[in-house]
Amino acid sequence: MTRFAPLLFALACQSSGTLTPDDHPDEAPPDVNPVDLVSTTSYERSMEELLYTHLGENRGFGPEHDLARDNIATEFETYGLDVALEPFTYQGATYHNVVATQLGTSRPDEVLVIGAHFDSVDNPGADDNATGTAMVLEVARVLSQYESAVTLHYVAFDREEQGKVGSRAFVAAHADEAIQFALTADMIGQDHGGYAMDLFSTTASVPLASDFSRAIDTHGNGLSGRLQTGDYSFSDHWSFEEAGIPAFVIIEADYSGNPHYHQSTDAADLVEDYIDYVYVGDLLRAVVGFVAEEAEVRSR
Ligand SMILES: [Zn+2]
Repeated sequence: MTRFAPLLFALACQSSGTLTPDDHPDEAPPDVNPVDLVSTTSYERSMEELLYTHLGENRGFGPEHDLARDNIATEFETYGLDVALEPFTYQGATYHNVVATQLGTSRPDEVLVIGAHFDSVDNPGADDNATGTAMVLEVARVLSQYESAVTLHYVAFDREEQGKVGSRAFVAAHADEAIQFALTADMIGQDHGGYAMDLFSTTASVPLASDFSRAIDTHGNGLSGRLQTGDYSFSDHWSFEEAGIPAFVIIEADYSGNPHYHQSTDAADLVEDYIDYVYVGDLLRAVVGFVAEEAEVRSR
């Protein structure tokens, strides 16, 4: 991490013990590039089996909401990560962000956040936003096989659709941490023709988004990242940006080209090849490559 000056602080939020290699069911073989461990099979399994993306299912206020949340937590645990359900209140009820932590081995007080919202608008939310949630799981699955110099929080935010409630609660709860940046994703499953991802951020976060765009150029097999700069407050990156933390959100380019956006038909099984796993896979490699470099991961 050279872009941002690290702040000194005590890791007050540390909820449970220190990670050790023994905690990890999988370790990457020495000298294997984490980018090469990205698996669209693993990602597709999350979409199909963990996140309730099928017609009639409902991660909004429906019965699949808590089931998906608990599947995410259990999946993080299988990677050997510390997992916490962090509560917050919305309209008098308690909800939870799922927060998995990989403690940094040399600079644990520097923190990176990789996040996406898992809630939906009372629909299957296959594209919005199981696709982003499955990305967070896949990045965690791969990078948890390595040592990270800095601390990584992999986060599935709740209640984004009601106004980024969960991510705001996360930022408030982690205000004593030196979060260097947040990378978030929200609808990344459909290529609408340009083979590109849009990267939305304020001007302040353009250096970060530009670095990520270069990672897409390096790892994305022809995918490109288009910087979209402005006060875009429509997704969880904004909760970080409004707190002065560099952040951006990755969204499939021209997302309004998805006619099922916020419809009951945003389902993995309605249209053949509704989710383009080649397109997502090219993004996943870029995210893993980018975070691996920023976090200075290395073989255990
Ligand atoms: Zn969304």
